[in-house]
Amino acid sequence: MKSVIARLGAFLFVLMSVMPASAQAPEPVVALTGGNIVDVMTGAVTENGVILVRGERIAAIGAQGEVEIPAGARTVPMTGKWLIPGLMNMHTHFSLILPGAEGNRLANETPDAQALRMANNAYHSLWSGVTAVRTPGEFGGVDFALKAAIERGEVLGPRIETSGTIIAPTGGHGYTEADGPYDFAHVAREQIKRGASWIKIAISGGIADTHGSISAAPMTDEELSTLIEVAHRNGVKVTAHNGSVEAARQALDFGIDCFEHGYHLDEPTLRRMKDEDVWLVPTIVVSQPGAYEFFRKIGSPDWYLERVESTGKDHWQMLQNAIRIGVNIALGSDQHPFEPNDGTTATVAEAELYQKAGMTPLQALQAATIQPARLMDRQQDIGSLEAGKYADVVAVDTNPLETISALRSLDFVMKGGAIIRNDDAPATVTHPFD
Ligand SMILES: [Zn+2]
Repeated sequence: MKSVIARLGAFLFVLMSVMPASAQAPEPVVALTGGNIVDVMTGAVTENGVILVRGERIAAIGAQGEVEIPAGARTVPMTGKWLIPGLMNMHTHFSLILPGAEGNRLANETPDAQALRMANNAYHSLWSGVTAVRTPGEFGGVDFALKAAIERGEVLGPRIETSGTIIAPTGGHGYTEADGPYDFAHVAREQIKRGASWIKIAISGGIADTHGSISAAPMTDEELSTLIEVAHRNGVKVTAHNGSVEAARQALDFGIDCFEHGYHLDEPTLRRMKDEDVWLVPTIVVSQPGAYEFFRKIGSPDWYLERVESTGKDHWQMLQNAIRIGVNIALGSDQHPFEPNDGTTATVAEAELYQKAGMTPLQALQAATIQPARLMDRQQDIGSLEAGKYADVVAVDTNPLETISALRSLDFVMKGGAIIRNDDAPATVTHPFD
């Protein structure tokens, strides 16, 4: 593994050394003009607005005429479009391998092949409009290298907060098994040492498990409380893969920060989550009918599809309850953010299901932007279009405050001031190494 990273490093060093130095160049200034700018905090819209971007960040924002566009700025017309913050997806696995035909093909994947596959998934995610992700569970620590490479500008992809591996009791729904409080403390510290900004723990079973029950709570109090305490003492939050009411109660007692999926969570549990500011990342898209076609395509076995269908009914009811009760929800798909789903991407399909389950279009938009930023404690830097924040901007053709399905028309992506995609004017795309 080390030698692979060393070789990759050497290759990138050579690549960097033949590229023109840009350190001394003045910060580029870009003005996005003429669009309808959406304030996701309030739902207010600035028509015919200007977003002035200097380097990586938004320098000024406002109506045309209010914002002075300096001489030499590059103007990119956004006339008639709706400008919103870059989308965020809080549950994706760039190294994801599902059971079935795809799993068979990738069974013997080497770490270097995995790194390249993950970089490709990161690029496609960004291109689809997702400028930040949280990856709650990757294989082999490649996610830490990918995150660093993206931050250095060597690879194009979204901003990443990662948990590293998924920790679970032996036989549980995770990649790294542990038993007893010392072992849980050790594996959590190991991930934090490598750069994890989240800890992901599987406190119940999963849809894909061939043994055990989703509703069981297999961890001891000592194990779970120790793991959460260790993470919190390191300033790291803990999220739990969970579908079990009993495991939820136990985790809430010990101060868990977030639940993934929440398949079978009941109303009392959801109320307690609301009262204690515990987050929900629903990943509703994987259990609803739109997903069946995807699972058939990748050759998932029949027993898996049957489990998805039966879990899906509870999952949908849970989501409707969570929205009605007002639990904090951040969008996550548990599929690649760009994965084709119901004629759009998994990210957009997930947001559409939130609207269908009871959110207003603005709430669904918040679940895809400012809420994830808050979940990650990154709201000072990302999640809304405001002066001082990173210029992570996407554009759609119709009003997302009327229906969140407007995200289907997404055709412009800017991350950190660089134009990644502009279908209407491809010549404006920023060369990645400019
Ligand atoms: Zn997952």
